[in-house]
Amino acid sequence: MSFSRPSLWQLAAAYATARRPPFSLRRSTLESCDVSAHRTGCPECGGALGYVRPRRQDASGGTAIVLLHGSPGSWRAWAPYLADRNLVASLSLLAFDRPGYGSSASCSCSRSVATQGACISAALDEIVPDAALVVMGHSFGGPVALEVARRLHDRVRACVLLAPSLDPSHERALWFQRLAAATLIRTLVPADIRSCNEEILMLREGLQAQAGILANLAVPIHCLHGAMDDLVPVENTDYLAQMATRARLDIEIISGADHYIPWSHRDRVVDLLRQLAKH
Ligand SMILES: [Zn+2]
Repeated sequence: MSFSRPSLWQLAAAYATARRPPFSLRRSTLESCDVSAHRTGCPECGGALGYVRPRRQDASGGTAIVLLHGSPGSWRAWAPYLADRNLVASLSLLAFDRPGYGSSASCSCSRSVATQGACISAALDEIVPDAALVVMGHSFGGPVALEVARRLHDRVRACVLLAPSLDPSHERALWFQRLAAATLIRTLVPADIRSCNEEILMLREGLQAQAGILANLAVPIHCLHGAMDDLVPVENTDYLAQMATRARLDIEIISGADHYIPWSHRDRVVDLLRQLAKH
């Protein structure tokens, strides 16, 4: 494969194929999200960490459901949940733009799993200091959720992992990701693609570092993974079962499902969140 003279269009197309959902959220779904946007300071770099929460809900007590999107992404990934009036009426949702994305683009911290988890944990201490937490992450958001659970284990009731990247042996940088990290091209690609690239290049090392954490984590972990996931292989669940020996583990493999279970199996996910918030 030749790396000479790739066009930005080719780069964008490669990302679109590899990382983006195969459909876009309907504009009406986004418009139905009655949310307010907030920012809090990143204690590490002084940049901003942005998040949204539905208006007219109070997560200062009770259980807050923390939503962490995949790579690339933004809080908008959770629009079908935030637009669900029944859900919003009964559960306190809080959806972040992870560091490097959207309203958190000014956070200049490392894009490693560990640092992202540290940034979000510090933000949660500011935003919902008293709430019990259920932390849910999709794809790259999965290992970040685990890092949050490690740091805030006293108040994390459960972690929900949807098609998470966990096993470092399944991670490899794709050719166009290494290419996009080159200095010249880096300045030309949009910020969210740049952040996506940076964090994916650091993922394997981050997951290796997380192996010891997984072994010591004692919070309940619920993992849903599609049997037909061709982006993050379902074998990641074997790794989870092997490594998370202290956690109360509940793994559900969904036959016929691909990588996009937050949207294709939303009812199942909502049932799980309701159940976890009750206990
Ligand atoms: Zn930062």
